[in-house]
Amino acid sequence: MYQLLFDLDRTLWDFDGNADCTYRAMFGQFGIGQLCHVDYDTFHDRYKQINDVLWEAYRNGTVTKEQLSLRRFSLTLGSFGCNHESPEIIKLSLQMADYYVEQGVRQTRLMPGARNLLEWLGERCNQFSLSVITNGFSEAQLPKMRTSGIDRYFSHFFLSEDLGFMKPDRRFFEAVLQKLAVPPKQCLVIGDDYKVDIAGAMSVGIPQVWYNPRSLPLAAGDTPPTYEITDLSECVNLFMR
Ligand SMILES: [Mg+2]
Repeated sequence: MYQLLFDLDRTLWDFDGNADCTYRAMFGQFGIGQLCHVDYDTFHDRYKQINDVLWEAYRNGTVTKEQLSLRRFSLTLGSFGCNHESPEIIKLSLQMADYYVEQGVRQTRLMPGARNLLEWLGERCNQFSLSVITNGFSEAQLPKMRTSGIDRYFSHFFLSEDLGFMKPDRRFFEAVLQKLAVPPKQCLVIGDDYKVDIAGAMSVGIPQVWYNPRSLPLAAGDTPPTYEITDLSECVNLFMR
């Protein structure tokens, strides 16, 4: 039995499309345009920059999950002239954080080809066993999979919060291999993030499929992945090898 280890966000679940929809609704709901004198696109661009920095810090352990959830909103509001330490802005940021989790998990867009690929694999469940490997918050990841109807394809859900390590930490991947009780070569990691999914899998000898829909160049000095694809439909040929 071949073990396929899928990343979730931006590999199967259309994180950016779904998040954009949620943020747009949130922007209107909380009157951010009037409060910050800013249009949605400018606000969202700034949010993304701040969120990326905070996520990196969360992966490195210098910021907690609670700090990440709050500060990605309070610091964005702060960057448009609000006092990010005032009780009103902290309260608003907490409300936005709750709204994001509650509404975000109701979004069901998948990456192009994801549903077809999972259906194809579901018809071959005697050959392939599917797992999810994700760093996302546990209260978001499982509901997201349930509402988009893809949870039924997977036999294992490996969440960093449960394992105690985050990708690309090799201990995350070692824990997965141990729980599945399989050698690395019997697995394949499919993920969109070179640094997080691909480099992590590489560090423990698991072959990798880099899903790179925007054809990003490999950074200087990075080892090429085992396979690289720009469309999930290419997986079928790879898996049949
Ligand atoms: Mg991803």
